[in-house]
Parts: sequence; structure tokens; C-alpha cells
Amino acid sequence: MTTESKDYYKILGISKNASQDEIKKAYRKLARKYHPDLNPGNKAAEQKFKEINEAYSVLGDEKKRAEYDQFGTSPFGPGGPGFEGFRTYTGQETFDFGGFADIFSDIFGARTKAEPHYSRGPDLIMGLELSLEEAFSGVTKPITFNREAPCKVCNGTGAESSKVCEDCNGTGTSKTQKGFFKMSQVCNSCGGTGRKITKVCSSCSGRGSILQTETVKVKIPAGADTGSRVKLKGMGGAGIGGGPSGDLLIEITVQPHRIFKRKGDDIYLDLPVTFAEAALGAKIEVPTLDGLAAVTIPPGTHGGQRLKLSGKGMPSPKTGARGNQYIDIKIVVPKNIDNKAREKIREIEALYKENPRKGLY
Ligand SMILES: [Zn+2]
Ligand SMILES: [Zn+2]
Repeated sequence: MTTESKDYYKILGISKNASQDEIKKAYRKLARKYHPDLNPGNKAAEQKFKEINEAYSVLGDEKKRAEYDQFGTSPFGPGGPGFEGFRTYTGQETFDFGGFADIFSDIFGARTKAEPHYSRGPDLIMGLELSLEEAFSGVTKPITFNREAPCKVCNGTGAESSKVCEDCNGTGTSKTQKGFFKMSQVCNSCGGTGRKITKVCSSCSGRGSILQTETVKVKIPAGADTGSRVKLKGMGGAGIGGGPSGDLLIEITVQPHRIFKRKGDDIYLDLPVTFAEAALGAKIEVPTLDGLAAVTIPPGTHGGQRLKLSGKGMPSPKTGARGNQYIDIKIVVPKNIDNKAREKIREIEALYKENPRKGLY
């Protein structure tokens, strides 16, 4: 499954310029609606509840929200390179109303106990430009990028050895009372992992990941278009607490071509022809993606007329079936006409009395 940049505003049903108060309100309302305890056995509600919490953990924090507004959920999402030191969730608070507080804090406690404290790393997105020829034939390209790769020594946990956190008894959550609100908060001592590191991994200094420059070969299938994405599974940012790495998404841009225009799998080419070629017909060498093709221009061809070369377009990346190439005829008139030529043209004109504009009146 691909975790692309998520619209946290949409998830909470609020506008992009919502105030912190509005965000909190929207979150509380939705959290109550989709809380797993109120929707037992409802997987969809549980998923929704997770999404809501994820969205609020970012939008409810001004700093993370600003980062998100700028970059989306990748690559600077939760657990991304923006985090320092131990790669754990911090500052994730859940606000509950009095009436619901008891249910909420109990459930949050129970849930935190039941759920492992790890999560998947962020997806990374990288752009890659191709020429139309490369997109046509398909190409394998080496790409180099930086990522937080999981530390192999500690398997991403950051610990060589650890023990249960005594401040939260391994739940990862602490509870405090602030005015009317009971707050279930990530445990400060262990950062929500429920465990305390007794010996930090010497290889990654406890981060669980190591910033690495990676070079991989990416195979771009024939027919790739602007906006196509190639996914390299597990090549994104390292997970948290030993969780799986995210994916690397390569987003393709096909550069404009000097003579060909592309629409989907079809290719368009403007073909200049002389008046004589258009009037009398001609055989012309026309560029295609496969090289030159001999094309017959039928006698009496008009300017703007479109000819079709079946199967000379781009291949579909899915089926390999090729689109068409369309040739748009442009009749080119000589700029400098000497007296002799002028006379000849008038002679031809005199032979054809037909008024080309008669349909206009
Ligand atoms: Zn703790
Ligand atoms: Zn390590």
C-alpha cells in the first residue's frame, strides 16, 4: 500500500486556515465519533480513528503543521529527517472532555499497552526527468539520494539493550489533569516507546537509523508519462522503533520534445509541405519515434489536414500497445517570389476559377 502525501485538513474536515481552536474541536468531534470502543469490531472506524489521530498530531502542533503545509507528509512527515535524537513520537497529546475523559484515558491506556510502539517510515518522493526518446524505449537509470536507512546493528530500535520504562510501566503514556481536561500524553521518560534504553546502539548513536547516500538503478518502463510513478519498496525513510521503512517514489517528468508533441499514447507532428506537394501529392520522409517513415501525401491535400500513422505512437506502459502518430499538414508558401514565378502562379490561378471562400457568404 502506498502512503502518499495525505490531506490532513480533509481528514479533519477543516479549511487550510483553520485556527488551533477549530482544529481541536474538529478532532474531538471526530475522535468521539470513530473511537474504537464506540465502534467495536468496526475496522473502518478504527482506520479512520488512526487517521484522525495522525492528522491531529501534525495539525495540532504549529511547528509540524508549518512543515506539513510546506512539504506534505513526505519526506518531512512524522518520523522524517526533521526529527532529532531518538526517533520517537513526541508532543502527541489527546484532549478529552470531562464526560468522556474516563472512557478515553482508559482506552488510550489500554490501546497504548496493546499496540507496539513502532511505525512505518515516511515515503520519499523524488523527481526524475526523461527525454521523450527515453520514455519511448524505456530506460534504466542510476539515481542517487539521501535517506535515513535503518541501522543494521540494532534493527532500527536504537538500543543495544533496554528495559521496561518505570514511569509509565511500559504503556508509553502518562496521564495529567489540566483544569477540566484529563490529558493522555506521551510519556516523557521513554518518548512513548514504553522502554528505556540501557545501552545505546553505538553504531547509530541511538537514532535507529543512519543518514546514507544510496545509489540504485531504476527501471522506467517504456511509455512512462509525466506524472507516472515508480515505487521502490522499502527504499524510503527508516521506520520508528524498528518499524518497516517507507517507499521511495520516483515521479517522472517527460521533457518537451523539439518536434513531437505527446497526448497520452499519441504523437503529433507538424509537417511542412510545399504548395506543389500538397496539390499534386508526394512521398515524404517523415520523422517518427522509430526513425524516418515514407509517407504518401495524397494529391489535393489541404493545409491543416491530418494524416494518421497507425501504431507509430508511444507504447502503453500497461499493455505495450502503441498509440498513433498524427501528421498535421502545414502548407509553406515561398517568401521571395521573383517576376518569373509570379507570372507562373498567375497562370495557374487563371486555370482554377473556383472561389475558395464561396461557403463564407
Ligand atoms: Zn515511559
Ligand atoms: Zn543502531
